[in-house]
Amino acid sequence: MSLPPTATDASPDPLALTSAEFVAAARTHGRSRDDALNAYRAVHRRGIWQPWMAPPPPPPARTHTDDRTAKFLIQLHDQLETESVIIPMPHRGGRFSRTLCVSSQVGCAMGCQFCETAQMGLLRSLTVREIVQQLHVARFLVTNPFTDETPPEHGHFDIANIVFMGMGEPMDNLDAVLQSIRILCDMNGPAIGCSRVTISTVGRTDGIRRLGDFIQQPGFRRVGLAISLNAPNDEIRSAIMPINRAEPLAQLRAAMTAFPKRPTSALCAEYVLIPGVNDLPEHADAVCTFLRGIRCSLNVIPYNPRRNSPWPAPDEATIDAFVARAIANGQFTKRRRTKGRSAMAACGQLGNEHIRGRKIVQVGIDR
Ligand code: SF4
Repeated sequence: MSLPPTATDASPDPLALTSAEFVAAARTHGRSRDDALNAYRAVHRRGIWQPWMAPPPPPPARTHTDDRTAKFLIQLHDQLETESVIIPMPHRGGRFSRTLCVSSQVGCAMGCQFCETAQMGLLRSLTVREIVQQLHVARFLVTNPFTDETPPEHGHFDIANIVFMGMGEPMDNLDAVLQSIRILCDMNGPAIGCSRVTISTVGRTDGIRRLGDFIQQPGFRRVGLAISLNAPNDEIRSAIMPINRAEPLAQLRAAMTAFPKRPTSALCAEYVLIPGVNDLPEHADAVCTFLRGIRCSLNVIPYNPRRNSPWPAPDEATIDAFVARAIANGQFTKRRRTKGRSAMAACGQLGNEHIRGRKIVQVGIDR
């Protein structure tokens, strides 16, 4: 049987297929099982590609670094771009691991008032390949974004954690997100531990239920779920997050309560603290009341002002008081340290001003 000398659209794509799917696809192209599996491992572990596969992703279009956070952009076939952020997470003894924040869409339809990405609207959802290639580019093609580090062989930056907290609402592109998780966690592929993958959602309850079904499958039990809560009551949440008008807090709470419990990990409720909006002590009390009975940590994130923001960043005293009040309520609470503010790489700040104004895909959130 003659083999195609170069990749075609139908060539097996290691960024879109699990190892089992890739081997099956490669066998239809005349490759042996062992050859195909070794080639799949070589792509994900060493960044080495074969000519009979789908082509490798392009190098990042642009990279911005800021206080050790690196944001990089990958140009897509239709001239849109994905944005991803590599964030160092410090550990004891001066060591650190790296978290990669990936996008699931270009732009977002959810319209959260505090979010830079929302200013773009939704341009389109990403394919599985376009999601997974963000890890591949971070590992093998981003060259030395941190000034005091030398990339190891093949330019490999080790990524320990993946969070779906970049551009887009993962639950609006859930088929592609779940397939990308199967690949990211594939032991013959990137082999990211499932407990090190977290999906962050605006609170779409249909997606929370589907993710709950997904994690009951063997091997995916410890995939994490973070809910963007951001408000103590429906009035405030509806004002800053349009999703709440379609799916109010009672509905969200029911979905969180029904989410399968895990022995060692819990849900995370994210709370972007915005001055004059949701930062009062009684707001902390109400949030803790909402979370009572749900095994859940509260992650307080000081607001990062987006471009043309109507709100400033909160001051330290307000942040400390809010966190202390939540802890006094008996709620396990953490404060997220802000990284990457000046590179517009911090939470809620992804979104490319150059591609705004392009055709927006209209996706309503009323159902
Ligand atoms: S916060 Fe998340 S869900 Fe809301 S608009 Fe931004 S990217 Fe979309």
